[in-house]
Amino acid sequence: MRKIAAHYALVGGELRRNILISVDDNRQIVAIDEVASLDSCASVEFFPGILIPGMVNAHCHLELAYLRGAIAEGSGFAGFARAIGAVRNNFTKDERLHAASVADSAMWEQGVEAVIDIANDELVMPIKERSNIEYLTLFEVFGLTTQNIDNHKEMASRWTQSSVTPHSTYSLQDNIFRSAVEANNSTLSVHFLESRDELELYHNEGSLHQWYNKMGWECDFLHYTTPTERIIKSIARDRRVVLVHGCEATATDIEHINNHFLTPATWALCPESNRYISGSKPPVELLRSKGAKIAIGTDSLASARELSMVENMRLLGDIPLVELLTWATANGAEAMGLDAKLGSIEVGKTPGIVLLEGCDLHNLRLTSDSRTRRIL
Ligand SMILES: [Zn+2]
Repeated sequence: MRKIAAHYALVGGELRRNILISVDDNRQIVAIDEVASLDSCASVEFFPGILIPGMVNAHCHLELAYLRGAIAEGSGFAGFARAIGAVRNNFTKDERLHAASVADSAMWEQGVEAVIDIANDELVMPIKERSNIEYLTLFEVFGLTTQNIDNHKEMASRWTQSSVTPHSTYSLQDNIFRSAVEANNSTLSVHFLESRDELELYHNEGSLHQWYNKMGWECDFLHYTTPTERIIKSIARDRRVVLVHGCEATATDIEHINNHFLTPATWALCPESNRYISGSKPPVELLRSKGAKIAIGTDSLASARELSMVENMRLLGDIPLVELLTWATANGAEAMGLDAKLGSIEVGKTPGIVLLEGCDLHNLRLTSDSRTRRIL
């Protein structure tokens, strides 16, 4: 049994003082007590900062960790996609495995408890199975020339906590997109409105359109007038969906998505990746004003210097700390369907305990010194 306290703890959706958290040997929270004077309690571990539950990284590609620094910043959206294809084969299997293992350990040490992880193959699956972090792996179906999803279904059937998901609304023909949605028995995760090129494609314009033309690829899905319409017409309203990036989402897009899904869709924002690739930003204030459900992802080390939840929170701007922390914890856990055990400090749950240090405790804001480390 450990008894843990700090200046503040995130409990019941607020930052509270004088909270003592008791955790048993199975990492389960067994008591949360308000104690007038923590000094008088025996064997309490006291930390300077804020105790938060383990974080949930709502969007990652662990298998791309070996691409750290391999692609120049500012390549732009289509340029980035082409660059990944070009450098992908320059690394050995051991280099890929080592990089994924290092990234997994770093995320755990920084307090990530669970990850929605997108995969194209099975190489790093053993690392995820051995990890302390709880992964939901989604094998993404990708490519306008993809004929069937048999291989993806087979990969998903070989591993626990894994399923299939469509990559995006611009990279799959109609029936393949629908098959991937159908084959998913968990959370769907779709890259969505990351760049203007996706929108322009639906008007036969822009760099994606030009690239596809050059390759001789035709799209059979442009009768949907927008990516949003495609999502709504292809995914039933009772599904649990994570929409990743959303940089180009308008008020109308957000309203249509909100109105369609019975369980609110989660918008997984990865601002570090957007900054790295194109300098764009997610419309965080618009999403907030529309009451959208927001979670935070790191995306991959191909488009981030670090898989840091705090850095991504910081890049979202001057958001009240409790709200940011809810995005990074409870909302991610709900998106994974794991909120009964993760994402909040509650008796009976096993969320892990993480210390958030270096905050402005007076104004309750992140600072450039803010960082997280795992306590339990
Ligand atoms: Zn991604």
